[in-house]
Amino acid sequence: MIDLRSDTVTRPTAAMRQAMANAEVGDDVFGDDPTIHRLEQTVADLLGKEASLYMPSGTMTNQVALRAHTEPGDEVLLEEGAHVYFSETGAPAALSGISCRLLPGEWGIFSADTVRTYLRPANLQYPTAKLLCVENTHNRGGGTIWSLEQVLSVVAVGREAGLRCHLDGARLWNATIATGTSERDYAAPFDTVSVCFSKGLGAPVGSALAGPRPFIERARRFRKQFGGGMRQAGILAAAALHAIQHHRQRLEEDHANARRLADGIANTRGLVLVGPAPQTNMVVFRTLQGDQSALLGRIQAAGLRIGARSIDTMRAVTHLDISSAQVDAAIGILRSAVAG
Ligand SMILES: *Cc1c(COP(=O)(O)O)cnc(C)c1O
Repeated sequence: MIDLRSDTVTRPTAAMRQAMANAEVGDDVFGDDPTIHRLEQTVADLLGKEASLYMPSGTMTNQVALRAHTEPGDEVLLEEGAHVYFSETGAPAALSGISCRLLPGEWGIFSADTVRTYLRPANLQYPTAKLLCVENTHNRGGGTIWSLEQVLSVVAVGREAGLRCHLDGARLWNATIATGTSERDYAAPFDTVSVCFSKGLGAPVGSALAGPRPFIERARRFRKQFGGGMRQAGILAAAALHAIQHHRQRLEEDHANARRLADGIANTRGLVLVGPAPQTNMVVFRTLQGDQSALLGRIQAAGLRIGARSIDTMRAVTHLDISSAQVDAAIGILRSAVAG
């Protein structure tokens, strides 16, 4: 099966499993796991922050960050397709009692002017805007990249209004490989940053939240409250450390494979690319036949899985377990399925 539903479907490599098997562990709720300490220090250094905190998922790192930045009744400004809002089960309302002010964007990118337009003057009746979120790369935008200039311009407006700023950098690694802007430079404008190890980096589990030490200590309490205190999780942190060391540079292969797939799709009668050309590891496209579910069924029977993104569009994601030969095979399967 060629599985292009997401870069989360990767399986740990033999070398990663070896690193996991050899990990030194302890009870991390007591602060005793040396491998988790090593991971948290490594991530803090990479992102240029004082400290970081390992958690089971990117949803938890984002939602713990929101909870630690706000009080019930506050408001967070974020793009309308942001993962934090769109794909985290309504958690900002459910877990933090905050509302989301949705900014219109183009493929996940919004402008400084848009932030200005959506900020409100102080008024007793309004919710208090506390936090501005940026997502880089942008998942629903199709893996689009914010340039550092774009980041700096929206953060500057947020700062003028006294907002804290959080970066959902689940795939920040991809933005760095594609642009050459370091993770540290991308992280610098933000108070806090979430990163995932379980996407393109290929670890089985885990994310981290980085920021100032006092904030991370506050976040540690909410992680426990949200049920994310883990015990001998060094076994998982070892996989993340291995991924950071060995799987970052190779993301360029995923990006090349996404471009290769997009070329194949562009040259397939009956399929059209949607949105900007792939900037990282995602390809968004649709069928001209209207009936996407029939197409998805036919390709699955032929050994290819691709995710439905909405009623009429699909998203294919390249990753560690996909070779260029498999991309070519995927194009072949799509062509026959559209023709049939
Ligand atoms: C995947 C993802 C997350 C976190 O997802 P989990 O499945 O909870 O790890 C957060 N933000 C973005 C942009 C993502 O793509």
